[in-house]
Amino acid sequence: MVLERLGSSLKNVLKRIAGAGLVDEKLVDEIVKEIQRALLQADVNVKLVFDLTKQIKERALKEKAPAGVTEKEKLVNIVYSELVKFLGDEKTEIKITDKKPFKIMLVGLFGSGKTTTCGKLAKYYMKRGNKVALVGLDVHRPAAMDQIMQVGKQINVSVFTVKGEKDPVKIYKKFEPEFKKFDLLIIDTAGRDALSKDLIEELKKVHDAIKADESLLVISGDIGQTAEKQAKAFNEAGAITGVIVTKLDGTAKGGGALTACSATKAPINFIGVGEKVDDFETFNPKGFVGRLLGMGDIEALLEKTKEAISEEQAKDLGKKFLSGDFNFLDLYEQLAAVKRMGPIGKVMEMIPGFGKLKIPKELVEAQEGNLDKWKVIMQSMTKKELEDPDTITRERIDRVAKGAGVKPEEVRALLKQYRQSKKMMKMMKGKGAEKLMKKFKGIGG
Ligand code: GDP
Ligand code: MG
Repeated sequence: MVLERLGSSLKNVLKRIAGAGLVDEKLVDEIVKEIQRALLQADVNVKLVFDLTKQIKERALKEKAPAGVTEKEKLVNIVYSELVKFLGDEKTEIKITDKKPFKIMLVGLFGSGKTTTCGKLAKYYMKRGNKVALVGLDVHRPAAMDQIMQVGKQINVSVFTVKGEKDPVKIYKKFEPEFKKFDLLIIDTAGRDALSKDLIEELKKVHDAIKADESLLVISGDIGQTAEKQAKAFNEAGAITGVIVTKLDGTAKGGGALTACSATKAPINFIGVGEKVDDFETFNPKGFVGRLLGMGDIEALLEKTKEAISEEQAKDLGKKFLSGDFNFLDLYEQLAAVKRMGPIGKVMEMIPGFGKLKIPKELVEAQEGNLDKWKVIMQSMTKKELEDPDTITRERIDRVAKGAGVKPEEVRALLKQYRQSKKMMKMMKGKGAEKLMKKFKGIGG
């Protein structure tokens, strides 16, 4: 798995959110610190890390959970979406147009993985129905021509190169008439130990002759955040349109390389995740972060944030409530739904019969203040106790209070609230709203 360590650290952050009692500033601070630690370990640039976590914290504290979304889900979504933005947000696909041939040129330093990636790219586009050929223009390393021939043979594509020729432009010109037969040319170029004037000049010369549609910088993920310098330099030399980050399988520093490249504005198009020809993927920030976080169904979760709890659902809850036939679990669900839907007054409006009542504002506010505490208390109860609160003994009240970090009186107050609500709902079923109102006022105090 790519970036295994980063992934497991980030998964722990999510676990932490899931296991937390309440989403408050303390929790947000804790998870922000854990995210920082995880990203710094993956060699992400310090400034980038702090910018990201500042943004997460601000949003977590400022934004309200949309209707239908719990505070925890909101927080997970913020972490997810900020990480996606961090990695460039949208997937940047290279569309092979009808022009024959479309040309992709790979550039980069020695050993970054250019030649290997030529084979991977070729296979990727062959699978999508394109007729592909490779062109070997690495004239500096004696073994380079043999290597690309081998790559071509392995995946069964034509390779055009001239062993011993020192001028890359000559090689290209020699075969140019034949290239029209192909949909896509993938052109391998020479590297250097470091980005030198000499390399830039050679690339410019080759580019002028070829007029590549895409020039992709191949960069090794194991150099971590120093990838930024390289990506920037190649970008400023006008030499690249995108980036391929390789060797993400074998390094803990990949987070640094990916984020550094994202920061340079040249999009990451593909990633290399192994030595074999199929160890290659398009780079899609959403899918990538989703996998890192271990959220296969992140899409579903995101959908949920968009959906408000429907009026229909609210009515169903209301009906159950009104029948007087509800237990603690229902109350808990009700509270959670209430939290999600916003102000309690609004919820009351949606429940049949309640809309016409004028519930005193103070009462509404008092109840809202209690909701969070009640939630924590209920989380300390067993399932059986939630289903049948009458089974809760005095000792259990003390235990629950301890578990929730509240006073036993507060647990008793909640039990009282439950019994009163239940009684109230039964009453409401039979008798008029007038009488109910009187009772209702009693609860607030
Ligand atoms: P070039 O000098 O830029 O052409 O680099 P090469 O294509 O010759 O690759 C250099 C080394 O990196 C080779 O041993 C490749 O097998 C290895 N390599 C390339 N891409 C990957 C990758 O995604 N993962 C791993 N583990 N190794 C890779
Ligand atoms: Mg090579």
